[in-house]
Amino acid sequence: MIISFPHMGNMHVVLRSLFAGFGCEVMTPPPISKKTLELGAKYSPETVCLPFKMTLGNFIEVLDQGADTIVTCGGVGPCRLGYYSEIQKGILNRLGYKFNLIAVEPDLIDALKKLRLVSSGKSWLEIYHSFKIAGAKMSAIDNVERQLNFIRCREAFRGSAEKIARRAIDSIDEAQDIGRIREIADTAIGELKEVKQINNIEPLKIGLVGEIYVMLEPYINQELERRMGEMGVEVHKTMYLSDYVRAHLLKKKEYISLHEVLAALARPYLGHYVGGHGLKSIAQTIHMGQQGYDGMIQAYPFTCMPEVIAKNILPQVSKDLDIPVLTLSYDEQSGEAGVLTRLEAFIDLLKYRRQRKAAQLK
Ligand code: SF4
Repeated sequence: MIISFPHMGNMHVVLRSLFAGFGCEVMTPPPISKKTLELGAKYSPETVCLPFKMTLGNFIEVLDQGADTIVTCGGVGPCRLGYYSEIQKGILNRLGYKFNLIAVEPDLIDALKKLRLVSSGKSWLEIYHSFKIAGAKMSAIDNVERQLNFIRCREAFRGSAEKIARRAIDSIDEAQDIGRIREIADTAIGELKEVKQINNIEPLKIGLVGEIYVMLEPYINQELERRMGEMGVEVHKTMYLSDYVRAHLLKKKEYISLHEVLAALARPYLGHYVGGHGLKSIAQTIHMGQQGYDGMIQAYPFTCMPEVIAKNILPQVSKDLDIPVLTLSYDEQSGEAGVLTRLEAFIDLLKYRRQRKAAQLK
């Protein structure tokens, strides 16, 4: 059995570790490229959301290289995620690919039962250990990335923070025990704090909300975090992979309470769950507006129903909380220049607002 999975940011580091620990032969799909996008778009229904197309492209590329088992996510709720795996399987079968598809639902028991099937006779203890190592890698990478987002906009020499983070993620990928993984992350975070910074700057603070795949996959969002950081913006991404896993798969108490708080915040504008992260996009915009953030960016795939609902509500939130919101929707036609121009104009607007507020206070 040669097992594979779709890409989403650094998720491959986590899944590679998990399945290797299960004793599987693991094949990571080639990094996402123009070819991945073209393949996915060619064989997908035209109006389906971008993550469907991209992951289909990943599957075609990795099946061509010899993988015979694909693990992907299932889904519940009003959006299309729950249909992805079955439709993708049908498309791939019609293209002549024969393989096993394992769709893991957002439920820990379901995940354990299905993943046990690929664990080559490993004991529950060994499986638990693999989960612990993969989980430690996931948290370590997210912690490094959080610190990277804080430092990047302040660094005196562009690229120095990025280099430290990249090196740390590569080492985390290779590390085999939890102590070593934590040590790598702590060292990298320490080094990031020591990066030479520009004196006396107060970077703009922008919250990033939206759909998880677009938020986490830099190829798709055109390296939004890096670009914003290099433009002098402190980016607060409202969801990392570890947040998603703890909230949706592990259903950790603190995330359930957080969800209740966010749902209460959003209620005056949207009173029910609409699938995906639409409700959270509204709630986080309210929350960050109350916290005095300079602006918000909502990033999502074109035709993503939950985020389109949020997009139509956000202008009212923006007006009530006096916080500018830029919406960026991505599809296979999204060009780098278009996104960059809108981003630059938005950041100029936020700088102007800040200067005007400061002048009013004098
Ligand atoms: S959340 Fe949006 S992009 Fe993701 S599957 Fe649902 S509709 Fe598609």
